[in-house]
Amino acid sequence: MSGQLLFRPSGAPPYSHTRLVIHLADGSELCFVDPRKFGEAYLFSEAEGDTLVNPFALGPEPLDRGYTPARLRESLSGRKGPIKAVLLDQKVVAGLGNIYTDEALYRSGIHPLRPASSITGEEAERLAKSIREVLREAIRCRGTSAADRQYVTTAGTLGSFQERLDVYQRPAQPCPRCGAPIATAKIAGRTAHFCPECQI
Ligand SMILES: [Zn+2]
Repeated sequence: MSGQLLFRPSGAPPYSHTRLVIHLADGSELCFVDPRKFGEAYLFSEAEGDTLVNPFALGPEPLDRGYTPARLRESLSGRKGPIKAVLLDQKVVAGLGNIYTDEALYRSGIHPLRPASSITGEEAERLAKSIREVLREAIRCRGTSAADRQYVTTAGTLGSFQERLDVYQRPAQPCPRCGAPIATAKIAGRTAHFCPECQI
């Protein structure tokens, strides 16, 4: 949340709020800049790296080949919480935050307040596909620099996925599909954005 990994060429002025510096062979640096101190860094030896495959018990990586709709549905079964909250849980799926859950739920036509356990096989198929599509597009766009402009690439430039957002941070603006105003709801302490007509 709002931290940055920034490349610093040799001789360039230092970034403020730098918490970790990785010195590269040519004198340049990779800097972890984190004004709000939400970030954490861990250092493992090579041997530990081999054994600590998943030290934080993160859920499956959605862009892995093994991530199937069946696997997604399995992780949702028995969970009564809203689908949006369950997708934000890093132990269920790794790497999905507020932006990408909003966009993936919109694309798959699923209301963010639906109980996770009510997602059908066909919906899980759409959702798994949307999650992967949204992530791949966002990576191609080099990320999403939302209104706060906190997210930048390692070169300090803005990403461009914010130009393709359908619902995230578009409250009261027309849904690109049906024109209904985009609604919001507080879910798991975050603001969810959705179309009340297209998402059921
Ligand atoms: Zn709509």
